[in-house]
Amino acid sequence: MFDVIVIGAGVIGSSAAYQTAKRGFKTILLEQFDFLHHRGSSHGESRTIRATYPEEYYSSMVLESSHLWEEAEAEIGYKVYFKTIQFDMGPLDKKSLQAVITSCKENSIPVRVLDHSQVSEEFSGVFELPEDWIGVVTKQGGVLKPTKAVSMFQTLALKNGAILRDNMEVTEIKKDDVRGGVSVRTRNGEEFYGKKCVVTVGPWMKNLVQKVTGLVLPIQPLETAVHYWKIKQGFEDKFTIENGGFPTFASYGEPYIYGTPSLEFPGLIKIAVHGGRTCEPNERTWMAASPAVLDSIKQWIEVRFGGLIDPNGPVLTQSCMYSMTPDEDFVIDFLGGDFGKEVVVAGGFSGHGFKMAPLVGRILAELVADGVAQGVDLKYFSIGRFEVNPRGNVKDFDDQVKSL
Ligand SMILES: Cc1cc2nc3c(=O)[nH]c(=O)nc-3n(C[C@H](O)[C@H](O)[C@H](O)COP(=O)(O)OP(=O)(O)OC[C@H]3O[C@@H](n4cnc5c(N)ncnc54)[C@H](O)[C@@H]3O)c2cc1C
Repeated sequence: MFDVIVIGAGVIGSSAAYQTAKRGFKTILLEQFDFLHHRGSSHGESRTIRATYPEEYYSSMVLESSHLWEEAEAEIGYKVYFKTIQFDMGPLDKKSLQAVITSCKENSIPVRVLDHSQVSEEFSGVFELPEDWIGVVTKQGGVLKPTKAVSMFQTLALKNGAILRDNMEVTEIKKDDVRGGVSVRTRNGEEFYGKKCVVTVGPWMKNLVQKVTGLVLPIQPLETAVHYWKIKQGFEDKFTIENGGFPTFASYGEPYIYGTPSLEFPGLIKIAVHGGRTCEPNERTWMAASPAVLDSIKQWIEVRFGGLIDPNGPVLTQSCMYSMTPDEDFVIDFLGGDFGKEVVVAGGFSGHGFKMAPLVGRILAELVADGVAQGVDLKYFSIGRFEVNPRGNVKDFDDQVKSL
């Protein structure tokens, strides 16, 4: 009998397994594919960490998560978090960008708002903004290394006594009326018993939860792609953290475009659109963004980067999946029903969950241990919010992620 069975070894499940094992719980982490596979959401070479959110509840979560990233790095002894500044830009009247500024102020996050000429000065001509755009600079930016970070959490989970098993697709989660807790069955016929179960299956969440309980969670997988573009010869240093102090960035125009400094592939920079195509997680196309989306990135590169990046087309593309909720807020809650508080689900990270993984791991460990999580208001992440309003939490600004 395990104290905790964690299902799904992406960044959230791996972090949760580390946190439960660290608290002394006998933990097993089950993954349907090979560990560190590229078929979910947590693989690759870079994710942005930034505290700039239009919703004020996320900014404070990022600050805590940032400390927990550093704690995990200290425990493992290597780096997965490369700090730089965060630069957000967009039209002055863009509601979501204005909400970002307000939420930073409410969370005491120092923020500098620059007009277009101050932006050219500060970034020595790298970013060129139209006259009616502003730039928003905060210190809490950076790049996380996803595959390396997932491996770090798995290693830390192991070090703390967890058992890790891959190629274990969970097909059944049942209440165990004899022993109490839950029994979990895998496709290859193995069965595990746990006092508690944490379900962190990313884009597979809707399918698995529906199969187990009949409940339909509004979590829609989107297939998306990140693109790497070539920096023109002689300008490579300008786009690095080390030599250029280059930021992680987001552009709140249409479409929402984001990117990270040149780090993982020298001479290349990651620039992508925050959005994707709806998909079934087991029936992917693995394709790049559509020609229309690629065109919008090309145009953006041409006008924003003053000719320093080759806009003709990406030289490298990687496919990935988002798990979208209607309000782009996470789902972190007890499954309820017959399972009561014995099964916790964490999903619907809507394309912005990576940075939060250490914190969500901590929250999940507290939910299984004590039934409550300290210092975080989980009402924004409840399953019940969709019963009140199928769109979930009400926001006063446009969706960030687009279905393309
Ligand atoms: C292109 C891209 C860019 C992103 N950029 C950012 C960013 O800049 N900043 C940020 O914070 N976030 C970002 N995100 C979002 C972030 O990566 C995700 O929110 C996060 O990785 C979600 O992790 P997860 O563990 O929930 O899901 P996953 O990584 O998908 O993990 C779920 C795991 O569960 C396993 N599983 C599924 N079903 C079963 C089953 N039945 N039995 C056993 N195992 C099962 C899967 O195989 C998978 O390994 C980005 C995402 C993408 C795709």
